[in-house]
Amino acid sequence: MSILIVDDTRSVRSLIEFYLRSDGHRTLVHAESAAQALDMLGVDMPGADSPGPARDGWDLVLMDIVMPSGPNGIEACRRIKADPRHARLPVIMITSDLAETTLEAAFAAGAMDFIEKPLRRVELLARVRSALRLKAESDARTQRERELLVMTRAMEEANRKLNLSNELLLRMSVTDPLTGVANRRSLEDLLGREVARARRSHAPLSLIMADIDFFKQYNDTYGHQAGDDCLRAVAGALGACLRRSCDLLARYGGEEFAAVIPDTDQEGALRVAEMMRRAVRDLGLPHASSAAAGEVTASFGVATSTVDETWDARTLVAAADQALYAAKTAGRDRVAAHCSAPPGP
Ligand code: GH3
Ligand code: MG
Ligand code: MG
Repeated sequence: MSILIVDDTRSVRSLIEFYLRSDGHRTLVHAESAAQALDMLGVDMPGADSPGPARDGWDLVLMDIVMPSGPNGIEACRRIKADPRHARLPVIMITSDLAETTLEAAFAAGAMDFIEKPLRRVELLARVRSALRLKAESDARTQRERELLVMTRAMEEANRKLNLSNELLLRMSVTDPLTGVANRRSLEDLLGREVARARRSHAPLSLIMADIDFFKQYNDTYGHQAGDDCLRAVAGALGACLRRSCDLLARYGGEEFAAVIPDTDQEGALRVAEMMRRAVRDLGLPHASSAAAGEVTASFGVATSTVDETWDARTLVAAADQALYAAKTAGRDRVAAHCSAPPGP
């Protein structure tokens, strides 16, 4: 507990020190003028504008009011309290001038209390004790606030990281890592929802299955790495053909992709599939070992929901698969529709 004793009279400072020592106070520093006190406290020095911990651990200032040189005690108190680093440092004025205006000015300058001269031991010690107790409580509160702030920041940071990894996990759980398009699970989720919606609204729902032609040979000829690049390029080309936000392209597995296109009849789905077929071919990726063409091609199967309720997600996938098989057997690099869908008007 450091106490700064400011008085121009040496005998007064010594008396205060004597009283304080008799009460167990050990760290007592003298200043013989307000200017010296301000200097010791670092007031008006660089950094005074920034709030921070109290400088040098001062706990109390006992300040004479009338001093012959430099600022008086009230002005010094005002400057100490104006320094954000000393905002919580208690200043007790010591004075023989008990005029109301003097006391008013002292309190207005931020003084916490005053002690009358001539000094009486009991009064001095009681006021010092109560000032130090309040200061200790205020320090403890500030320390708790600081710890709380550090904990809050740490928690916010942990939460931010958790949110980020949750987001990443969520994205990983719905996307195919190689191509960046949706994975089979999210396709199945969406298909389930769209099937229910199409049944309710009697709107058509189409599914396109795509499969790269002779992809095994492509891997065998150009290597697995090139095969991966090809899968990414094909995914990009297929995705670019889907324009509506409700459409979804997914990697169904291996070199197979599936596109869910709601509110689209067979004619519309065939158009989209044909656009996709061309987009793959237009990539112009050489495929020397393909029996279908000199470049990478894909085959497409289209299935569209019927107006009756005899179909579901599973039968729609099976129908698109059958159509894809037909496109393969008919020579590849082509689009086929599942023949029983939809029934004519
Ligand atoms: P088809 O024209 O009848 O579709 O013949 P295909 O060779 O394309 O079909 P097949 O099912 O015989 O072979 C598919 C190949 O796709 C086999 C496998 O090596 C390759 N493949 C599956 N997944 C990946 C992958 O993630 N990366 C690479 N590079 N190749 C893959
Ligand atoms: Mg294939
Ligand atoms: Mg396949």
